[in-house]
Formats: sequence, C-alpha cells, structure tokens
Amino acid sequence: MTPLARIIAGRIRTTGPITLADYMEICLLHPQHGYYATRDPFGQAGDFTTAPEISQIFGELCGLALAQAWLDQGSPADITLAEPGPGRGTLMADMLRVMAKVPGLTTAADVTLIEASAHLRQVQRDRLGHITHLDHVQDLPDKPLFLIANEFFDALPIRQFQRTDEGWAERMVGLGDDGLRLGLGALVDLPRDGRPGDVVEECPAAPAITEAIARRIAAHGGAAIIIDYGGWNGFGDSFQALRQHLPVDPFATPGDADLTAHVDFAPLAAAAIRARAVASRPIHQGDWLLSLGAESRARRLQDAGDQGAMVALRRLTHPGEMGHLFKTMAIWPKGAPPVPGFDALRLNANNA
Ligand code: SAH
Repeated sequence: MTPLARIIAGRIRTTGPITLADYMEICLLHPQHGYYATRDPFGQAGDFTTAPEISQIFGELCGLALAQAWLDQGSPADITLAEPGPGRGTLMADMLRVMAKVPGLTTAADVTLIEASAHLRQVQRDRLGHITHLDHVQDLPDKPLFLIANEFFDALPIRQFQRTDEGWAERMVGLGDDGLRLGLGALVDLPRDGRPGDVVEECPAAPAITEAIARRIAAHGGAAIIIDYGGWNGFGDSFQALRQHLPVDPFATPGDADLTAHVDFAPLAAAAIRARAVASRPIHQGDWLLSLGAESRARRLQDAGDQGAMVALRRLTHPGEMGHLFKTMAIWPKGAPPVPGFDALRLNANNA
C-alpha cells in the first residue's frame, strides 16, 4: 500500500466513499504524497513525455503564435504572459526565446505560472529565473492576458456517471476486500440520454477556469491557446493512469501514477463564448503546427545538426502519433484578428 492509499482508505472508513474528482485531486496534489508534489514525472526516465519535451519546435511555434496575436492587437505595454501547469518550464523557456526577438514583447510581459506543486515551482524557478507563481487561474490580474496551456486541463479532476436501469449514478471510490475500488453512489439527476452501462464524464473546474481566462481576454485583450488530448462532446470512460509510459490500474498505487482524463473541448468553447470572447474550432495539433511552418523549422534544425528534428516533427504532427489525438483551441477578443492557424467557432442552438 502506498502512503496515500492508507490516507484515502482512512478517510473512506470515516466519511464514506469519495467522488472520482476528490480521488484524483488527492492523488495528484496531496502536498506530501501527491504525484506532482513528489516528483518530476516527465521524459524518458519518467512516466510520460509531453510535446515541449519532444522538441523546441513546439514551444517556438506556440510563442510565435502568441507574439503575432500581441502584434495584431497593437502591442499592449503591460501584459501577463501566463501558463497554467508548466511542468519543467520547457515550453515557457522555448516561447520566451522566440518572443525575445519581437521588439518590446518580453519587456512588456510579466511571466506568471499557475502551479500547484511546490516541487515543480522550484524546478520552474531554476529554469526561468524571475517569474510570478499563482495558485489559481482565477488569481490572474486584470490586464491583457496571453496564455498557453499544454496538458493542463487533462490533469483537472473529473466526475463520472454511469447509467443504470433506474437512472444515472455517480461512480465513487470506496473500499473493497483488497483495497480501493470503484462503485456506484446514489442516483443523480443528469439531463442526458443513455443506455445501461454508459459512462459520461464531467470536469467541473475546466469551464470555470476557461471562463476566468476568457473574461480577462474579452475585457483587456490577449489570447489563449489550449492544447490537450480529447475531443468534442466526449463520451465514455477516459480516466487513465500512466506509470513509466504504460497504462496501470488507477486505484492500485495512488500517488505513484499520473491520472488524467480526455478533455472535452465543447464546454470550454461554451465557457469562452459565455465570457464574451471568441473561441476557435478545436483542430488537430498536427495540422496546426504544420500550418505554422513546423516542417521548415524541423529542416532548419536538422541542417544545423539536430539529428532528431525530423523524428520529433513526426511525433508531434503525424496522425498516428500525437498529431490527431491532441487538439488545440484558441480564444481571442471580439474584433481582433484570429490567433494564427485558427478560425472562429460559430455555435448554434444545435451544438451550443
Ligand atoms: N505543460 C507541461 C506539464 C504538463 S503536466 C508540459 O507540457 O510538459 C501537468 C502540470 O500541471 C504539472 O506542472 C502539474 O503540477 C500541474 N497541475 C496539475 N493540476 C494542477 C492544478 N489544479 N493547479 C495548478 N497546476 C496543476
């Protein structure tokens, strides 16, 4: 049993089964034993590899897209350049390197990271130097906001509901004979059709966070780019645990495996539109990077001696690798040009 398994079992014994969202939050963010609190999980030696850790091409193109949005909006003088869930700080470091080539941009920017893990905060300070850390996106200041989020939303706690013969019931984490296990709680009123056995997911924090971002962008200017694996109006059980690059039982070793769920972009877009900003259609990560010139950048890097550049390009963009599984969506203010590579989404009554 991991130390967290004991803590969670103790809590269930006293107050009863917990939601999957509570379980995920404890496993990932418990200040002593949580997954992100205790380690640097990225890369070959860790549990998973993210796009910025594969190649600098990714962060450079994200940085250039936000830089172009900043130029398109008249180069505002005092902005927040923000990243929730910055991991090792690699993406921000790559973005800052290209943004420094745009006169006035990095001096206008207050680099602000939203990070829950004290351990990763230190890694980020060592990497990036003078930056501001915040606990919540909702704490961002009221000024123009240029924001990137890669594989942040997939770490936010989800709830799951399962259809039974009587209606929808929440999936809860309880105790079985040999440890933690998933069971069904009370019936809930969920306005969705379904057949017995169907599972739906909800990530309550995701629209709230998106709305907080979009409100600042609508009121003060700016742009946000959100990248994650997932889809549109997601359906089914996407909860997964990864350890050393392999899927494992999410209830077997709490605190020692990464827990994620696919991101449903539909409620994110709806939240941005509610906040009176423009949301893009979500598009494939691969198509977006290629439309911004990823291939010519990879060739340049290869010519300059980066042997892995073309393999990295393939991993980031090929439909059979990350290219299609990962989607990207942008948010910008009404009346401003779209963020490079994106088109505005038009929601109508049928898909709102
Ligand atoms: N964006 C990085 C890392 C993704 S991993 C990359 O692409 O490599 C998820 C990151 O989000 C980690 O830094 C983790 O500590 C952070 N995180 C997870 N949940 C969080 C929360 N609720 N608030 C703030 N940061 C969180």
